[in-house]
Amino acid sequence: MNTQQKLNIVPFVSVDHMMSLVLAVGVETFLRELAQVIEEDYRRWELFDKTPRIGSHSPDGVIELMPTSDGTLYGFKYVNGHPKNTRSGRQTVTAFGALADVGNGYPMLLSEMTLLTALRTAATSALAASHLGRPDAQTMAIIGNGAQSEFQAIAFKAICGIKAVRLFDIDTAASEKCARNLSGSGLAVTILPSSEAAVEGADIITTVTADKQYATILTDNMIGPGVHINAVGGDCPGKTELHRDILLRSEIFVEYPPQTRIEGEIQQLPEDYPVTELWQVITGTAQGRKHRDQITLFDSVGFAIEDFSALRYLRSKLMEIGLYDELDLLADPDDPRDLFGMVLRHKALKGL
Ligand code: NAD
Repeated sequence: MNTQQKLNIVPFVSVDHMMSLVLAVGVETFLRELAQVIEEDYRRWELFDKTPRIGSHSPDGVIELMPTSDGTLYGFKYVNGHPKNTRSGRQTVTAFGALADVGNGYPMLLSEMTLLTALRTAATSALAASHLGRPDAQTMAIIGNGAQSEFQAIAFKAICGIKAVRLFDIDTAASEKCARNLSGSGLAVTILPSSEAAVEGADIITTVTADKQYATILTDNMIGPGVHINAVGGDCPGKTELHRDILLRSEIFVEYPPQTRIEGEIQQLPEDYPVTELWQVITGTAQGRKHRDQITLFDSVGFAIEDFSALRYLRSKLMEIGLYDELDLLADPDDPRDLFGMVLRHKALKGL
């Protein structure tokens, strides 16, 4: 990427370019490097401007804006969550976002973020599990085998050394799709007939289902000692996946408490229920797993800093690899105050 970019031009990463970029880097390398950048930013946690994301809720879904800044760069993501979308051939989650220069306010990068969200969510989950799960964990159950699932499986292989995944989805076609996509990944993949069967013997349980309600994907009797739960799908007010009794038996780790208390599994608990922030575990100011038999729960909802890290990582990759379009996004008159004159000159030039 040319760092001396023309003032009106903003690099734009389309879905097509994102796919080529991920394949050029390699999915596992991309996830590992992205997790490292997220970890770097989690270490700088206190430096960031933080706010719970701004959600616009409707009966069928939510549209959210997720801004943050480290004082030098500013990033935001637009993301939706509409569980019924897949019935009309649309994604449950789509996203795009931008990175900008705090010094002059100009955008430096605009990108698709549907794929990037799946990648950053999986990288964050695996990063959390690398700090919270048992170090010898080898088997992961994945309940919900939709768009996010393969990214989760591959991130846990690349970052946590998971060797086998056990799949369950209420729609068998989703599990079959996931198993097909993971063939050749090096993971041993089994499709199971129920979530009870899928979690049997699993060291890590990932729940990544989509339903706009208080669902009970896991009940207390399904969770044995020493398990790490990576709860990804409950990420909205009124949308959870775990029975409350599981929360009461677990040590709970969250991204940003003011957001997770509204959106996460812990919306089922009193507002002052004790939770540990993941950044504190990463920086060593709080303890992660205390003993082998402890049940740890990462109550993931997705936080703006992870998207910021993903955009920051993406920009560094664009500098190495290219793969972007030049978007004529910003007005750039010869005299910055002559915006109207620029329109008049355009009229003359085009004969309009
Ligand atoms: P998706 O619609 O592609 O897949 C969801 C899958 O869950 C579907 O295959 C569906 O059949 C299955 N499912 C629904 N109810 C189930 C149940 N009771 N038991 C088993 N399977 C069930 O959606 P997706 O893009 O994979 O996203 C999944 C969830 O993850 C969504 O709720 C989304 O909002 C959430 N999400 C969270 C984060 C985060 O950072 N925490 C990021 C991205 C997505």
